[in-house]
Order: sequence, then structure tokens, then C-alpha cells
Amino acid sequence: MDLRSVIREIPDFPEKGIGFKDITTLIKDKEAFKYAVDLIVQDLKDKDIDYIVGPEARGFLMGAAVAYALGVGFVPIRKKGKLPAEVVRKEYSLEYGTDILEIHKDAIEKGSNVAIVDDLMATGGTVCAVAELLEEIGANVKAMEFLIELSFLKPNEKVKKYHVNSLVKYE
Ligand code: AMP
Repeated sequence: MDLRSVIREIPDFPEKGIGFKDITTLIKDKEAFKYAVDLIVQDLKDKDIDYIVGPEARGFLMGAAVAYALGVGFVPIRKKGKLPAEVVRKEYSLEYGTDILEIHKDAIEKGSNVAIVDDLMATGGTVCAVAELLEEIGANVKAMEFLIELSFLKPNEKVKKYHVNSLVKYE
């Protein structure tokens, strides 16, 4: 199955110069969606994972499906102010300015093994902030799983201490 063929590219979205990788065309294709989830599950199944962690919003789509298929729980990471109970937060840099990610303080028991699942790794900034947040609350980050990696942005330098699996790479 060629996953690349079901990823739609939208030029100049959300701003000029960005080639947006649209995964809605992948996840609505029942064979591609199952194939992608199964590949990620395959990579995780020997890693003794306790939780899948997915950042808002497209990390929920893939992450919850992977958690279900792997037979583990799902923990959401959200933008500032969305989670109702006590949170731990991390501010991180974007291309312009900063953003804040939050996780429930009691979401993950100390010493648990977790895998982060998201649709796409671009610069690696988001996944590094998620990993730092998880480590702050005592989780072991065992793996980072992506449908897509924009390898030309060289995210790997940032995440080299982690196991990273990306299904489709744009060089
Ligand atoms: P980064 O922190 O640079 O690795 O960016 C990753 C986040 O931004 C992911 O959660 C993606 O959903 C989103 N993102 C960045 N670049 C793109 C792109 N070209 N197409 C689609 N989503 C993107």
C-alpha cells in the first residue's frame, strides 16, 4: 500500500510557502487507515507500552486508533485551557512566537512507558515539548510515531535520543 498516494498536498496553507500535508484523505480510506495504524502497532508491540499519548488535534485521530489496536489507554495533550483537572504545562517555540501544551497532572503513573503518536513531524518542536512534558511527570518516552516526517526540515537532530518511526518521509 502506497500511503504517499493518499496524502493530499495543499499548497500555501495555512500561509504562503507552506505545503500542507492533508491526512483527511488518508484516514477516510479504510484500507490506508487500517494499514497505517497496523504499521505503527507493529512497531510498538514489543516495547511494553502502557499509554499512547496524542497531541491535539490530529494526534487524537491516529493516537486513539493506535491505542485501541494495541490494547492500551489513550492520554490527550491539549492546548492551553482545555483540560478540566489540574495540569502540568510546557511553553514551546513556534516559528513565530510560542504556544502552550498541557497534560493532566495525574494522567500517567510515574514509571509508565509511553509512545507519542502524531500525524506529522516537521521541525520536531512539538514532539520535543510533548516528550519534555511527559518526562516531567515521570513517564518513560519509549517511542515517537508519525504518519509523516518532513525530513528536509531536519527534525532528527532534535529527537535523536528517542526511537522515531515515520511511515512516509519527504526528503
Ligand atoms: P513541528 O513542531 O514543527 O514538528 O510541527 C508539527 C505540528 O505542526 C504537527 O502537529 C503538524 O500537525 C503540524 N504541521 C507542521 N507542518 C505541517 C505541514 N506541512 N502539513 C501539515 N501539518 C503540519
